[in-house]
Amino acid sequence: MSQQHQDLIERDRKVTFHASTHLRDFAHGDAPGRVISGGKGIHIVDKDGREFIDGFAGLYCVNIGYGRTEVAEAIYRQALELSYYHTYVGHSNEPQIALSEKILELAGPGMSKVYYGMSGSDANETQLKIVRYYNNVRGLPQKKKVISRMRGYHGSGIASGSLTGLKAFHDHFDLPIDTIRHTEAPFYYQRAAELEGMTEREFSKHCATKLEEMILAEGPDTVAAFIGEPVLGTGGIVPPPEGYWDEIQAVLARYDVLLIADEVVCGFGRIGTDFGSHRYGIKPDLITVAKGLTSAYQPLSGVIVGDRVWKVLEQGTGEYGPIGHGWTYSGHALGCAAGLANLEIIEREGLTRNAAETGAYLQERMQDAFGDHPIVGNVRGVGMLAALEFSAEPSRRAAFDPALKVGPRIAAAAMQENLIARAMPQGDILGFAPPLTTTREEVDEIVARAHRAVDAVLDELVREGAIQAMADTVA
Ligand code: PLP
Repeated sequence: MSQQHQDLIERDRKVTFHASTHLRDFAHGDAPGRVISGGKGIHIVDKDGREFIDGFAGLYCVNIGYGRTEVAEAIYRQALELSYYHTYVGHSNEPQIALSEKILELAGPGMSKVYYGMSGSDANETQLKIVRYYNNVRGLPQKKKVISRMRGYHGSGIASGSLTGLKAFHDHFDLPIDTIRHTEAPFYYQRAAELEGMTEREFSKHCATKLEEMILAEGPDTVAAFIGEPVLGTGGIVPPPEGYWDEIQAVLARYDVLLIADEVVCGFGRIGTDFGSHRYGIKPDLITVAKGLTSAYQPLSGVIVGDRVWKVLEQGTGEYGPIGHGWTYSGHALGCAAGLANLEIIEREGLTRNAAETGAYLQERMQDAFGDHPIVGNVRGVGMLAALEFSAEPSRRAAFDPALKVGPRIAAAAMQENLIARAMPQGDILGFAPPLTTTREEVDEIVARAHRAVDAVLDELVREGAIQAMADTVA
């Protein structure tokens, strides 16, 4: 690493509080840093000019790839004209109007309005406020609980972090708050061994039964909403088991429970449809979007409100006056300009179709490369989302000892190959979510580098005696 790069990292260590980072080790120089200085297509470049394939599109958000001048120019033009004016009390800007029209067109029938934020987390805070307001207006003040799923990811705030069903986001923060519950994760691979002999369809039914039992135990008059990602993302990149969403929606309909689809990852093409909901027949009352809305060229999120909820919100303001909710930056003109330019690129270049077609190729190649690998227990994914789940004994789906840190070690080995793939936060799972522009040749390169990384860690584990049983076959 060059002196200049090292100096920058040293300055950073002194002044920056980094997300999801071991704060002490980073501040004291015991954990690595890196300064990213450029990007083009599916590649990013660090301060030394070292180039990586970004197999996770940042945090599954740079869907159109890096370095799109067209988006930069749209932001620049808008900044010259009007960078910002608030959107309170009916003020607007042209990009906001056009972007809302576009989002509603893509979302399909039944969706009424868009409210903007800056992040997926704040959008889910808005969702929770809408849900509370909705039931207060309807004269159902007890109906406030929201059911999320274990392993769901919905953000890092007090409320959105409570919706998240991952231990690391709750521990030591006194979360979740008391109106949030978590039901069974739709994670067939991990549960199948325990629920012996259960088919995928039966498992979906089992998840719905668990949800129904929870609603009944809490009291249906206290349960307001259910929130879920069409494909479980940060919790492990887990496509839903067969029939899952039909079963879940049937339960929600029985108890007058709203459905919030968190489309922060799936929205705008990632799994080969405009919204993840479209792929699985999900009919949400409310949708959360962020990430792919602007491909992260500007921070922008949105809450899409369906007709059924919107009517009640209107009724509420008729009774109580203007809604007591607003962010300074809601509908920010630069964010909306970036969103419009981004969605134009996705449409013009057919990137949603590419996510379906090249995504199918990615799934195929992953299966070919890792389907029989001695430490890969499960290869899964949909569209441009894929995951490898590592196992000490794939035939028994046995997990590795967490102390071995197999997932993070494989992600580090991938970095050695100049490939970024993400060690997901719970379990030994390596995630892939490349930009939607990724070509077949680039898929081949991603899979080849990933393969070398997994093999390198397999060799280490054998040498360490951590997987004794395999030593003979591999040696
Ligand atoms: N919802 C989902 C499904 C996400 O994956 C994320 C972030 O990864 C969020 C919400 C939170 O978004 P943000 O990090 O922009 O607050």
